[in-house]
Amino acid sequence: MITLALSKGRIFEETTPLLEAAGISCLDNPETSRKLILPTNRENVRIIIVRASDVPTYVQYGAADLGIAGRDVLIEHGGTGLYQPLDLKIAKCRMMVAVRKGFDYDNAVRSGARLRVATKYIRTAREHFASKGVHVDLIKLYGSMELAPLVGLSDAIVDLVSSGNTLKANNLIAVEEIMPISSRLVINQAALKLKRELIQPLLETFSKAVNP
Ligand code: ATP
Ligand code: MG
Repeated sequence: MITLALSKGRIFEETTPLLEAAGISCLDNPETSRKLILPTNRENVRIIIVRASDVPTYVQYGAADLGIAGRDVLIEHGGTGLYQPLDLKIAKCRMMVAVRKGFDYDNAVRSGARLRVATKYIRTAREHFASKGVHVDLIKLYGSMELAPLVGLSDAIVDLVSSGNTLKANNLIAVEEIMPISSRLVINQAALKLKRELIQPLLETFSKAVNP
């Protein structure tokens, strides 16, 4: 039996065609089902539904053999115990610094002012600003980062941006790209050895589907 950890929403949706390419279809829809363990048409493959940021943890401890997680999530997790063989090029977006329209970010950086930055991505933000030599006070949030500069919680946010519509709707502008983001396949290192005959074909099919 192999267990694949996925989050519902865009990762589940964008993974479905990759699973179909491997002849695997999920027998429940996680958006409507309350089940957290979903059977598939293959009796030796099951899917568990977890929070996006919990995927690496389930795989690290071997509660799931494989998982699919965003580069953002993997950086914050640290990647311990995870083999990351394949960029699936799904759930693409960009990690950006954004500020309120009218806030002179370049000037704040140039003048060496201490910046208050609100984000869910503390590690990514810390490394980014450290590499620029910018002093920051990081404020940890769990969601709706766009609000923080509007109510004076922070000068800037570090968040994922795809269309930019949420920023625009809240009078914010992206001022710096930190890195492009997509989701990767992660595999528990022990499972890869012990269940190679089940995992290897899946890895090959995913590889061919992504890089034809
Ligand atoms: P939760 O909703 O549980 O708090 P989350 O918001 O990180 O977690 P999702 O919104 O499903 O969960 O995002 C899952 C992954 O998809 C993220 O880790 C990121 O890699 C990617 N992602 C997030 N936002 C976007 C976006 N707007 N466009 C494309 N990909 C995105
Ligand atoms: Mg989300």
